[in-house]
Formats: sequence, C-alpha cells, structure tokens
Amino acid sequence: SALLAVADLTKDYGTGRRALDAVSFQIHTPQLVGVIGSSGAGKSTLIRCINRLVEPTSGSVKLHDAEITSLRRNDLRAMRRQIGMIFQEYNLVERLTVMQNVLSGRLGYVGLWTSLRYRYPPEDIQAAYALLDRVGLSGFENRRADALSGGQRQRVGIARALMQRPKLLLLDEPTASLDPNTSRQIMELVSNVIHEEQMPAIINIHDVGLAKACCDRIIGMRDGRKVFDGPSSALTNQR
Ligand code: ADP
Ligand code: ADP
Repeated sequence: SALLAVADLTKDYGTGRRALDAVSFQIHTPQLVGVIGSSGAGKSTLIRCINRLVEPTSGSVKLHDAEITSLRRNDLRAMRRQIGMIFQEYNLVERLTVMQNVLSGRLGYVGLWTSLRYRYPPEDIQAAYALLDRVGLSGFENRRADALSGGQRQRVGIARALMQRPKLLLLDEPTASLDPNTSRQIMELVSNVIHEEQMPAIINIHDVGLAKACCDRIIGMRDGRKVFDGPSSALTNQR
C-alpha cells in the first residue's frame, strides 16, 4: 500500500473558483516530490490540505492507510505529530535557543511553556545533538534563534521537524526567503536527509531549475489542477 495516498483533493475557499481541483497522487517510496507551478496555481493549498492546516472541501488523504480528512480535533493533533512541517518563515521561537527549538519538535507546537518546563529524557537530548550535527549546526546549540541567518534558521527548522520522527515531511516554500546559494544547500540537505531517513517529502518550490536538480519527482500544478506528474528527468523546459 501507499505511504501517502491523496485522492480527489479539492479546496474551494468560497471564492467560486477552486483553488484545488480533484488532485490525486500516491507516494510509494521514500522520495522528494517537488510541487511546481506559477503563483496562485494551488501549490501551498495542496501542501496545507494534506495536514489540514487548510481544511479541504472534499477528497481523501491517507498516511500509511490512516484517513486524515475524517479525523476529529484530538486525533488530528496526534496525526500531525507524524507529519513534520517546514515553513518559509521558519516559525522558530525567536527568543529560545537552537537546542530548545529543536527539542520542542518532540512535544509538538502545543504549549511552549510545557515544552520549557519539560525534562527531556537524555535520549531526546542526544537525538537533538545528533540532528544538529546532521544539519551542520554543531556548536550552535546555545545560540538564540534570533541571532541566526536565514539558512541557519531553516536548518533548525529541519532538525526540529526530524525530531518528531515523522512519517512524512511537508515543506511549504522553505527556500523562498533564501539566496540562490543557500537555497541550493538547503535543498541538497533535505534530499540527503529524507533518503537517509527513508521518509517521503513534499516540497512547494518556486524555482523549477532547483526542483529539477534536487527532487526525485515533480508534480506540476496549474489553476488548481495537476498537469504534470513524473520523474524530474521527464520534465521538459517549455511548460
Ligand atoms: P500557490 O501556492 O501556487 O501560489 P495558493 O495555494 O496559495 O497557490 O493559492 C491558490 C488559489 O487560492 C489562488 O487563487 C489564491 O488566491 C487562492 N487562495 C489561497 N488562500 C486563500 C484564502 N485564504 N482565501 C481565499 N483564497 C485563497
Ligand atoms: P501563515 O503563513 O498563513 O501565516 P504559518 O505557515 O506561519 O501560517 O503557520 C500556520 C500555523 O500552523 C502556525 O500557528 C504554526 O505554529 C502552526 N504549525 C506549525 N507546524 C505545524 C504542524 N506540523 N502541523 C500543524 N500546524 C503547525
């Protein structure tokens, strides 16, 4: 069965025009799936409907056979623990240290105070050190998030998401605020870690060249519809 199965996913924000129109695809192997398309094509809506940051109007999303779209609040919260999310604006807690931000991935985004008072078991702390090393931030543990560059922040975001031991990683324009060099480094890091950890990831990415270079598979979106789905190598330059 599929790691992720999306079927007829549709979103109408109430504007009369479908932002997402019956999009279906499945992911069967750990791979980096790039979602491309011009602004307004529905890329972000697609990514956000998968973990219901945006509520889909209809359709189905199954993560390892568990249906996400029908879950009630509490079960949805538990399900989101299995989906790592990485944002364009990083969403770090600016006044906390790199280490505190990464550790908070273990508890989720509910209750910062819970997260601060919580006594993390040594294996969590070890895991956080290992992840920081993996994303190239060894020695940055005690820096405050607000003292980091954009690229460093996104590395923290990646380590925090991996701290959840997710079954799926969703990345919503993670490189949109970064310069081309840093974007490339972040994409290569994402590609390497998801293959190492054997987890699928879906990334909303504006830069088609970068998507083609770093993603295993490309889903092309236009006007809310899926207009391309295939290996990156099959993507032609005129679209
Ligand atoms: P992309 O990520 O490809 O730029 P989006 O998913 O952000 O596309 O948007 C798809 C369409 O849905 C666009 O027409 C956009 O204007 C519309 N849209 C996105 N968010 C909202 C919202 N909160 N309310 C109404 N319309 C929205
Ligand atoms: P926007 O771009 O519309 O301002 P954001 O992308 O900044 O929205 O974040 C939306 C909300 O989702 C934030 O409050 C954020 O803390 C929360 N959030 C962060 N990670 C997750 C997750 N994995 N699952 C669900 N919600 C999350």
